[in-house]
Amino acid sequence: MNNLSLWTATAKPKKNRPALVGKEQTDVVIVGAGFTGISAALHLQQKGYNSVVLEQETVGWGASGRNGGMLLPGYKPTLVELADKWGVDEAKQLNDLSIESLRLVEQLTKDYQIDCSLQKTGHVVAAFKQKHFEGMKKESEFINKHFGYETKIIEKNDMGKVIASKAYHGGLEDPLSYSFHPLNYVRGLAEAAESHGAKIFEKSKVINIKRESGYVEVFTESGSVKAKELILATDAYSESITKPLHKGILSISSQIIATESLPESTLKKLLPKGQMIFDTSNFLYYFRRTPDSRIAFGGGDIIPNRGESVYKEVYDAMINVFPELKGCKVNYRWDGLIGVTRDMFPVLGRMEDGTFFAAGYCGHGASLATLFGKLLAQFIVKESENLYRFGEMKLKPFPLSSQKGLLINLASKYHRLLDWLA
Ligand SMILES: Cc1cc2nc3c(=O)[nH]c(=O)nc-3n(C[C@H](O)[C@H](O)[C@H](O)COP(=O)(O)OP(=O)(O)OC[C@H]3O[C@@H](n4cnc5c(N)ncnc54)[C@H](O)[C@@H]3O)c2cc1C
Repeated sequence: MNNLSLWTATAKPKKNRPALVGKEQTDVVIVGAGFTGISAALHLQQKGYNSVVLEQETVGWGASGRNGGMLLPGYKPTLVELADKWGVDEAKQLNDLSIESLRLVEQLTKDYQIDCSLQKTGHVVAAFKQKHFEGMKKESEFINKHFGYETKIIEKNDMGKVIASKAYHGGLEDPLSYSFHPLNYVRGLAEAAESHGAKIFEKSKVINIKRESGYVEVFTESGSVKAKELILATDAYSESITKPLHKGILSISSQIIATESLPESTLKKLLPKGQMIFDTSNFLYYFRRTPDSRIAFGGGDIIPNRGESVYKEVYDAMINVFPELKGCKVNYRWDGLIGVTRDMFPVLGRMEDGTFFAAGYCGHGASLATLFGKLLAQFIVKESENLYRFGEMKLKPFPLSSQKGLLINLASKYHRLLDWLA
């Protein structure tokens, strides 16, 4: 079976955009046409700044067009962990920002009539081990007490009300999240940015960046863009041309399979409340029903390009969760890269040479990246210089960053071991 994503197969027709040829001049040049880059372009244009986006493939080709389509509040670390690190008030502010990012996506889909199957489904975090469930109870109590919205603990015996599976030790129900079709969203966002005058060039890989006093010039094979400011929005797809990002972001893989279309009665049985689910295993399985009545099941191995065998593992994991799906066909399968920082927390800001960037969403970028693009735009137009805690984070190079393959291999084995241990 060839790798083809469900999102690509079911997206609205793609608008064709030219490659950059010749010279362009603009206020802000942006490298990367995912949620971050396109959101920055849209918000810059809304403020009267011109922008040019350069994408090496096509709009949404990176993680933005490949993800699970889960718009989640929060971050990779739990809110209890954030409060332990930075205090309750800041954890609340960070949580509020993550919720603001959900509202922003919802508002943009309304303002620009982006048809991306956005639906407020809520989600359940499923406890892979009993001790994870104990942590969840604390997390739920903490959120309900300090953050003014209600999460609900589901005891193991009640898990059948949300998922037809005996694989989990309990769960935490969160009502705020949305599901969407990520590729349709990013394509719609790109058209919104263009409606305000942004220029987007596809098949335009940036191969060189030069800084002179007062401006920056970026080069592709067939052209260049001169601008006052540069934003790198390349996240996990950063290569050596974007060095500090390349060193400070670990690009781990994730795979997703989508089943054949299933009868409504089966879907209702598997996920009675239609919520999205992710679990607390180190390898992190995440799954949901899709707009066209399938189960999309994600999370295999963090090692990229493992080929056929990894999809078999994802299928087996799905059957382990939903034995009822044994024998069901898989119509689509695909993978993508997730950007992770050493602190497991996203970074946003300005490098020493003046380059702006936002990256390392650690699997929570579906909504955060739209907000981060907006924060960068606000900073550049001098509307707000508040980059919150994200702006204080440093892009710390990973140990062995020159041998990332080895590092990911070691991390993969370590995670497997942790999941295997009681
Ligand atoms: C399989 C998978 C599942 C995920 N599931 C979820 C989820 O359910 N919920 C969630 O919140 N997050 C999820 N994520 C993470 C989320 O998708 C990302 O955090 C988010 O899309 C990052 O957006 P971005 O715009 O910063 O980067 P990207 O969308 O990766 O965009 C970067 C772009 O930069 C381009 N680029 C790189 N180098 C160059 C160059 N030299 N010249 C020109 N262009 C260049 C790339 O082609 C790419 O299109 C998932 C990610 C993956 C891979």
